[in-house]
Amino acid sequence: MVGGSLAGLSAANWLAATGWRVEVLERASEPLEDRGAGIVLHPSTSRFLTEEQGLPLDDFSVGVEHLRYVGADGSVVAQSDSRLRFAAYGALYRSLRQSLDDRSARYTHAAHVVAVHGNGPVVEVSLADGRHRRAELVVGADGVHSTIRRVMLPEIRPEVAGYVAWRGVLDEETLPERAHLPLTGAITYTILENSHILTYPIRTATGRMLRNWVWYRNLSAPGELDDLLVDREGERHSLSVPAGAVRREHVESLLAVADQTLPQPIAALVGMTEEPFVQVIVDCTPPRMVFGRICLLGDAAFVARPHAAAGTAKGAEEAWLLSQALADPATAADPGEALGTWERQVLELGAALVARSRRAGERAQYEGTWEVGEPLPFGLRASGDSEY
Ligand SMILES: Cc1cc2nc3c(=O)[nH]c(=O)nc-3n(C[C@H](O)[C@H](O)[C@H](O)COP(=O)(O)OP(=O)(O)OC[C@H]3O[C@@H](n4cnc5c(N)ncnc54)[C@H](O)[C@@H]3O)c2cc1C
Repeated sequence: MVGGSLAGLSAANWLAATGWRVEVLERASEPLEDRGAGIVLHPSTSRFLTEEQGLPLDDFSVGVEHLRYVGADGSVVAQSDSRLRFAAYGALYRSLRQSLDDRSARYTHAAHVVAVHGNGPVVEVSLADGRHRRAELVVGADGVHSTIRRVMLPEIRPEVAGYVAWRGVLDEETLPERAHLPLTGAITYTILENSHILTYPIRTATGRMLRNWVWYRNLSAPGELDDLLVDREGERHSLSVPAGAVRREHVESLLAVADQTLPQPIAALVGMTEEPFVQVIVDCTPPRMVFGRICLLGDAAFVARPHAAAGTAKGAEEAWLLSQALADPATAADPGEALGTWERQVLELGAALVARSRRAGERAQYEGTWEVGEPLPFGLRASGDSEY
């Protein structure tokens, strides 16, 4: 397994549970628990933890009862029922790591994969420090800038969508009274001109309640993105600048716009966030996901814009389907055939999700056709299938 974030951990767990001896090679030298972002859960994302580990959903996520739209004056202008659930990245990461440890699978940090070779039954993976590994199957779960994708499909590059997601997380307890009212028990949306912002509660691995917000803002000036991606130390990031590293002038300009354009309760939320962070929104549509005994999944394969809130769910679903295909007695003697069956299923799933998510983004950010009160486009195979 190359990459030990949520897609890599899901695949490692499902494969270990069906009898594979698995090693996860993760570039980061420390556990990834502190990424500080919220994730809209999907039954595919939680399937391993609930069905295989027997964990109650409440152990790692929190639900809401309402979808609310907040208008310019800060009042609730539309409300409907919702059965969505949310988790902190760290809570999912920690639970999936724990279950992998319980199965005695190896998770190796500081393992930076730089190359992959072999089109026969054995694949060799090379690490930056000169170490090598040989495996019957290599799964590239190494994210948007996947090394495995670059080796197998050098012509495929993620495409920048033209806008970024500003994000922030803060303690629910610190929220001012005026922010509580529209936000309590709800996922909340505000539709703005060529922009939108949403917020929902998340629960950490230790049970702390946090408030997560995501504000999609279009890039207008040439060079704006390049400048935004240069951090406080002058380092250029490729896809996101983490909390605490975004340059002060960018944070201050965000806060000023928040104050002028967001409804009061939402502006208060953004204004109280000490260190917002930023992620570039991209799409990626690979034509293939299987190359002999090498395959791609999660963001290393298709990357969908986040408007369907199903990128993690896609990785988890691909991981589960992979373990099912490889365990199928009809193809057990021939992993190549099993991988072919899997690829047909997941190519269709990924392409459809990318298209649906792109449509939702275009409507919200450019066309202005996302109506107040509309049901959300959240879902992996269809809008609405993220509900519990
Ligand atoms: C604003 C925003 C909101 C989102 N909201 C949701 C949501 O609500 N619900 C949802 O389901 N999805 C959501 N997503 C999508 C989701 O975050 C991603 O789809 C998901 O995290 C991808 O997981 P991954 O494991 O494939 O990739 P990543 O999380 O990027 O992990 C890749 C891993 O591979 C490692 N790696 C990279 N290169 C190498 C290498 N060469 N060698 C070894 N290791 C390597 C990295 O260190 C990293 O740990 C959102 C995305 C964004 C941008």
